[in-house]
Amino acid sequence: MNISDDDLFKDPPPKEDCEICMLPIPYAQSLCRVGKTYMPCCGKVLCSGCIIASFTEMEKGNMKQWCAFCRLPFPRTSGEFTKRYNNRMKVKDAEAFRMLGKCYLDGGGFVKKSINKAIELWNRAVELGSIGVHYYLATAYLEGRYVGRNPTIALHHFKMAAIGGHEKARYYLGLFEYDNGNHHRAMKHFMIAARSGYDDALKEVGMGYKAGHVTKDDYASTLRAYKESQDEMSSEQRTKAEMEFPFKD
Ligand SMILES: [Zn+2]
Ligand SMILES: [Zn+2]
Repeated sequence: MNISDDDLFKDPPPKEDCEICMLPIPYAQSLCRVGKTYMPCCGKVLCSGCIIASFTEMEKGNMKQWCAFCRLPFPRTSGEFTKRYNNRMKVKDAEAFRMLGKCYLDGGGFVKKSINKAIELWNRAVELGSIGVHYYLATAYLEGRYVGRNPTIALHHFKMAAIGGHEKARYYLGLFEYDNGNHHRAMKHFMIAARSGYDDALKEVGMGYKAGHVTKDDYASTLRAYKESQDEMSSEQRTKAEMEFPFKD
């Protein structure tokens, strides 16, 4: 479970794009006011802007009640729902394990609440490399929520999520290092998270600059990268969606 600093601090991979509007989707839900939805029909992840726009068209009667990407009608029975997830899990789709786990965690809809089942699905999702589930498990182990509290396991999941590009996981690593007095390592994490478009991390970099932990050049380049990242993720459709349905994290 040892992770080298070379691996930990290398540039994260680019964010994946929404399959409809082709704009990047952040890993952290609601970052830059962008959310995401998994479609178990085709296995695509669509951004909140495209989802809300399609729901608006459905309400107006301009669009059928179907997936905005593959046009398969939404499942109407628990049998249909389960069949779709089973098909996606058969092809080892990590997002299907992540999302079905979340359904079991919340309960309702087609699924009866079961924490054990949720954790079982999430363990499978991380085996398949789900960045989102590394983050879920990190916070669960940190807070002792759904699983026994274990800060060591939490830290491992935060690192794996951050390496995969999870902006908030990267920010948390910065906070841990800062609390331990490791200002230089903290700022390295905050700069990576800020360059990925995360506001709170940018604030930390700004404070680090004032305190002398960050050079002027590093602060300036982080600020530029932050703005670029925010611009890439922003669109009128996404802003409109957020105004109509503000996300809860
Ligand atoms: Zn989109
Ligand atoms: Zn679909």
